[in-house]
Amino acid sequence: MSGINLKGKVYDIQGFSIQDGPGIRTTVFLKGCPLSCPWCHSPESQAFGSQLSWMSMRCIGIEQCGKCLNVCEKGAITPGEVTKKSGTDEDIQYVHINRKICDNCGSCTEVCYPGGLSMCGEEYTVNDLVDRVSKDTPFYEQSGGGVTISGGEALSQPQFVFEVLKSLKEIEIHTALDTTGFTDGKNIDAVLPYTDLFLYDLKHMDSVQHKQVVGVANEKILENAKRIAKAGGKIQVRIPVIPHFNDSQDNIRQTGEFCKSLGEAVVLVQLLPYHNLGITKYQRIFDDVKVLEAEPPSDEKIQKLKEILEDFGLTVTIH
Ligand code: SF4
Ligand code: SF4
Repeated sequence: MSGINLKGKVYDIQGFSIQDGPGIRTTVFLKGCPLSCPWCHSPESQAFGSQLSWMSMRCIGIEQCGKCLNVCEKGAITPGEVTKKSGTDEDIQYVHINRKICDNCGSCTEVCYPGGLSMCGEEYTVNDLVDRVSKDTPFYEQSGGGVTISGGEALSQPQFVFEVLKSLKEIEIHTALDTTGFTDGKNIDAVLPYTDLFLYDLKHMDSVQHKQVVGVANEKILENAKRIAKAGGKIQVRIPVIPHFNDSQDNIRQTGEFCKSLGEAVVLVQLLPYHNLGITKYQRIFDDVKVLEAEPPSDEKIQKLKEILEDFGLTVTIH
């Protein structure tokens, strides 16, 4: 198969993004991630296959609609309990989806005109994706922006990402790759010539704690960061600040030391304080909320962590 016809699985494309690299950007989110961060704000990114999503805000309920009840051959959709319509005092009976039975076939989405049910995860060829994101080129040109490939872990689809980045560079679009760094070194080597900026997550400097909490050790991640730096790549480090996990001054100091050791490769360090806005997204895909629910770190705490990083001569922002 020629590179431009290669297919990848995308779960979202967001235009006018200003958080994912310089200027105005279009960010492409790919399905699938080998990590399992308890604070993940994109639960739809974790699985590699397409998934059924149900949004209570769009569902108009069984009394007015109920069309999906009759189409599921697996019997995964049944009447749910009577509850209050979101944001009102009105009673409504929604549907209940049994996720253990649902095989994500997508048939029910075809009858749901209000858009309560939809499939999360769509296949794109390289060609179609590049055509789609290049429509925003005037915005990139005006703002110094470009395209960011994100996930999930985008490099879980390494050949697809390689072909997309290569095609974007051929038409002179600035490229950024948002990665956990948890991938084979050869995947990093392949994309390096076509990636203007790596957005690189550093979660914890202690490998044992890293593995305990996100499911994988950190050695490969740290090695790949060194690999990028050695090859002359540019890195924007992202540190999610997670209560009781990586928010100690000691861990942030060690992270600062590591960033400093990467030399001029590190152009910016971003502190991303934990927030709990991902909870409603979980409810669209899972029966129960699995996301971490904790008190966000205080402004004072974040400011202190910023100062620790700045002491290493790093440029640090808070998002
Ligand atoms: S078809 Fe859609 S809007 Fe109608 S009851 Fe089912 S989920 Fe709700
Ligand atoms: S996606 Fe398929 S199996 Fe799942 S609830 Fe809808 S119709 Fe049933």
